[in-house]
Amino acid sequence: MLRASSFEFAVESMADGKVYLVGAGPGDPGLLTIRGLECLHRADVVVYDRLVHPAILCHARPEAELIYVGKASSQHTMKQEEINQLLVDKAREGKTVVRLKGGDPFVFGRGGEEAETLVAAGIEWEEIPGITSAIAAPAYAGIPVTHRDFCSALGIITGHEKADAGTRRQGDAESRIKWDKIATGLDTLIFLMGVENLPNITTELLKNGRDPSTPVALVRWGTRAEQETLVGTLADIAQKVRETGFKSPAVTVVGDVVNLREKLRWFDNRPLFGKRVLVTRSRDQASGLSALLREQGAEPVEFPVIRIAPPESYDELDAALDRIDTYDWALFTSANGVRAVIDRLRDIGRDVRWLKGPRVGAIGPATAETIGCLGVRVDFTPSKFVAESVVEEFPEDPAGKRILIPRAKEAREVLPEKLREKGAQVDIVTSYRTVIEESCAPPIREMLQKGEIDIITFTSSSTVKNFVQLVGRESVPEGVTIACIGPITAQMAEEHGLKPDIVAEEYTIEGLVRALRLEASG
Ligand code: SAH
Repeated sequence: MLRASSFEFAVESMADGKVYLVGAGPGDPGLLTIRGLECLHRADVVVYDRLVHPAILCHARPEAELIYVGKASSQHTMKQEEINQLLVDKAREGKTVVRLKGGDPFVFGRGGEEAETLVAAGIEWEEIPGITSAIAAPAYAGIPVTHRDFCSALGIITGHEKADAGTRRQGDAESRIKWDKIATGLDTLIFLMGVENLPNITTELLKNGRDPSTPVALVRWGTRAEQETLVGTLADIAQKVRETGFKSPAVTVVGDVVNLREKLRWFDNRPLFGKRVLVTRSRDQASGLSALLREQGAEPVEFPVIRIAPPESYDELDAALDRIDTYDWALFTSANGVRAVIDRLRDIGRDVRWLKGPRVGAIGPATAETIGCLGVRVDFTPSKFVAESVVEEFPEDPAGKRILIPRAKEAREVLPEKLREKGAQVDIVTSYRTVIEESCAPPIREMLQKGEIDIITFTSSSTVKNFVQLVGRESVPEGVTIACIGPITAQMAEEHGLKPDIVAEEYTIEGLVRALRLEASG
């Protein structure tokens, strides 16, 4: 009997899906955990809250169902019971469900209640912790929540509770704060959801013996481009919040550690702090630009609009590789071109040694670096990454030279034309294609329309074309800065009705970030 029923259970649970309660982190999309990312990649359904950064949703598969269940503290879009039921229903349909919550699901996120529902319904589930805003928002404001000299005991407290004892109900879960104990019993106090109730919080702490000169900081939208910090003391912070109109969501930090901010600010004093920057490069290439932007304090949001795909046919490239020893030069115009050739050589049972013979030219440092990584020395890199410089600086007279250029199908004709004008014999072979990435346009379009994107970066003509095709020109509001890697990309932007505000002088991603920095420093 026992065996029969456990068999039944096994069959049932195989048919059911699974729910992952995933912490999305405090905001900065880079602060999602690797495990959380894996779950998102697999999810059929993503159920998410207001505090989840929209860029994180881009990690879901394009066909995943995204369900917003809201929850600003005042206007609940969906009641908690409805959310619980939704999770159960979707799992019962056999779906893999990611329940994505701001910060950590078990830190004032009602993750515990959702887990209880899943247990009661017999649904398989897992919790993937996230970085809580309670610690990360102060950290990004330069405030370590503990410090050997100032704090050995830390409390994380809900600020949602009314301090007025008259409004409390007997047994109310939210009326359990022991003000007399925490006011002086803990060194650092962190209040979540505490902005509206701040006057009561400060009153209770003062009434229960905390020193009025204790420093207090409020960090709003911590770790995001909108991060703002307000510093005061227990005596005056409530008034400062009222005067400045400081709004939620914010973390309130009470304690001497707040004074460390002066010394330890590291994030909100960087040149590009406060700028949310769209990175439109391919998924593989985005990370380099994102890292540079992040180092300057910007918040990169990756929106890959292009993908590198094999050419429709390898005939041209294969034929060129067969006669490789007849070429004087192999000229690579992009890192993608290098990788395409190496990948093809591998697929046909050859390797980089096959390229011996022609000298090797690389346009742009990223191209040169990709070649260098193969252990191959680059014989020529022009000082500027445009056709004119290639021709002018070519190390020998191009007349009569046979030059192979493996590149994208849709590339421009200027370089081969200029080389041919000088008498070179140029073979252009299609080695790869750039195609439009089926990516998550809706959350990005929404961010653009709400004015949450400050800068859009374009690093090639195809990124411009595909971007416009994916989100539409009309989604880009006035005032968004358009930054292009070089004049050709800028021209393409112009043609698509996006007036370039910044064009890099050096046509590299480093050059682009430098241009943004210069612009920001005014
Ligand atoms: N589970 C979440 C907290 C949810 S309660 C976590 O672990 O972070 C919602 C409260 O979290 C907000 O009222 C605010 O106090 C805080 N919060 C969440 N994200 C924040 C952010 N980026 N900056 C400041 N406060 C934030």
